[in-house]
This record gives sequence, C-alpha cells and structure tokens, in this order.
Amino acid sequence: MLISIVAPCFNEEDVIGRFHEAVQKIAEELLPLGHDMEFVYVDDGSSDRTLTELERLAELDARVRYLSFSRNFGKEAALLAGLRHASGDSVIVMDADLQHPPELIHRMVELHAQGYDQVIAKRTRTGDRLTRTVTARLYYRLINRLVDIELIDGVGDFRLLSRRVVNAVLDLTEYNRFSKGLFAWVGFPSTTFEYENAVRAQGHSSWNFRSLLNYGLDGLLSFNNRPLRAALYLGMGLLLCTGLYTAWIVGAALINGVQTPGYVTIITAVTAAAAMQMIMMGIIGEYTGRIYYEVKGRPHFLIKATNVERSHDRPSCGGHAAKDLIP
Ligand code: UDP
Ligand code: MG
Repeated sequence: MLISIVAPCFNEEDVIGRFHEAVQKIAEELLPLGHDMEFVYVDDGSSDRTLTELERLAELDARVRYLSFSRNFGKEAALLAGLRHASGDSVIVMDADLQHPPELIHRMVELHAQGYDQVIAKRTRTGDRLTRTVTARLYYRLINRLVDIELIDGVGDFRLLSRRVVNAVLDLTEYNRFSKGLFAWVGFPSTTFEYENAVRAQGHSSWNFRSLLNYGLDGLLSFNNRPLRAALYLGMGLLLCTGLYTAWIVGAALINGVQTPGYVTIITAVTAAAAMQMIMMGIIGEYTGRIYYEVKGRPHFLIKATNVERSHDRPSCGGHAAKDLIP
C-alpha cells in the first residue's frame, strides 16, 4: 500500500522542514505495517524560500515530489495539483503548518483498513478567536439549510481519501473549487473522528475576514441554484404585495378622491424595490460570473518548477486537466 501525503504550502519556509520531519517519522512507523509513503508538496507561488526548502527536501529524500506554481493560485488549486500528482493507493490531504497533527495519520490508516473510503478529521475550535468560532457556527447553520450536501463545522481538508475517491474528485473539473463541498458531494463510505485543534506552529494564517467571507459565499453558491430560486419567490411575493397595494390606493382614490400624494410611501416603495433588485442582480451576477470562469476553461494552475514527470497527469480528467502544463 502506497500512501501519498499531499500538502499545499504558501510561504511556509519556517515550518515545512519540521513538517517533513514529522511525517517522515510517521512513515518510518508505518513501514513495518507494510505501508510505503510519498510526499507531494505544492508550493503555491510563495514569495519566500519555500521552493528552495522543497528542493532541499527532495534532494535529501527521494520520496519527495514537489510542484511549484508560477504565482499564487490559492489553496484549492494547490490541493488539486497535489491530488493530480499523487500516485498512492490512498491520499492524505493536510496543511503544511503542523495544524493537522501528523500522529493522527495512524488513526486514519487504521480506519481506512476497516473499509472507509474517506476518513475525516474534525477539529474542535479550541484556540480560535471567539468571533471566528461564532461566525463559523452561524455560517454552518445557515449553509446547511441552503445547500444540497451536508457541511460540518470543524471538518476541513484534513482527511484520508481512497484512490476511488481521489479519482472521483479529479473528474470534477469545475474552475471554482470548494474542496470541502466536493469531498462531501463525492460521497462513498466515510467516517469522522475528532481531534483537539493545534495552534499554528509558525508564520501567519493567510485568512482574513474578507477572504473568509468570500470562501463562505463560494461554498453557498457553488453547490446549488437555491439562491436563484429564492430570488424568484421574493420577486413574486413583492409583485403580489404591489398588486394589493395598488388596488388599495386606486380604490381609496375612487372613493375619497385624490388626496396629497404620499411622499413617504413612494420613497419607501422605490428604495425597497431598488434594494431588492440590486440583491437579485447581484445573485444572478454571481452565477453568471461563475459561468464566465467555467466557459473560459483556463487551467487551474501553471507550474514553473517540479521534480515530477508528466506521466502522473490523468488524461481522463477532461477539459482543464489537459491544459495544466508542466514545462
Ligand atoms: N495555502 C496555500 N495557498 C494559499 C493559502 C494557504 O497553499 O493561498 C496553504 C497553507 O500553506 C497551509 C494551508 O493552505 O498549508 C492552510 O492555510 P492557513 O494555515 O493559512 O489556513 P488556516 O489554517 O488558518 O485555515
Ligand atoms: Mg493553518
């Protein structure tokens, strides 16, 4: 059994060495049990010396494969690249900042042996800022009402995937990737276990409020068309109200004659309607924007340096895959 570790790295020069040592140790422990390991590190256009570090690691350890992007394409793209170039019978996806404790790999491998295709590590929120915990909780409550798949708070990308899950995920070629949702969408027998959240070993989290908000919206919009449907219902409801209101004022004018025009009501109605329209146009625009991105069919990432040969690109990946060129 070959297990691939896939880790996206963005400005992780301080920690990637330590990360590799930690997973190497796990690899040694797993060797007697008949498991080999390979490490697929994806440098997501870091501006620090992450690539140099990866090259060094690859020189010291033949099991290290690295890919380096031509610029920062985002974690989702890095994950995709990693999955595409992993050749293991199972793949473990984890962050390079040691927030995903490597010791848990043992547990994952055990549970995988019991027949689960996805073994998902769910983190507690210890050490997180209160604001983030609260917004996350609210967000998951809201999103699960709206999307077709179930998303769980604390469940991230730290998980083991069997080969058939990896292949299924790779066959989803959409440009806007929300991996958490894609993994859930794919399905297959899955199990979840909890672990205590670790604080980042070094460096900074690359998430700020704005990027989290955008990530949240991605999750909401990339999984269904329910917001579009809601827009339709809202529009119909509004139309009905307007009809009733018009009947009422026309009736009143017929009975009492025309009185002073209602400045307040008009202004209220106009602004409310305008606001509604703005929202609806925004929602439609979101979907159109997504279609625009999909239609362009641009590659998810471009690679500037690697020690991996092309042979691991899966030709069956369709549209985008064929264009993700390696020099
Ligand atoms: N990451 C990446 N590209 C990015 C941002 C982050 O590859 O544009 C990687 C990062 O190196 C880390 C993982 O994604 O391995 C998670 O990022 P981070 O620790 O910043 O997020 P958090 O743990 O706060 O969710
Ligand atoms: Mg982190």
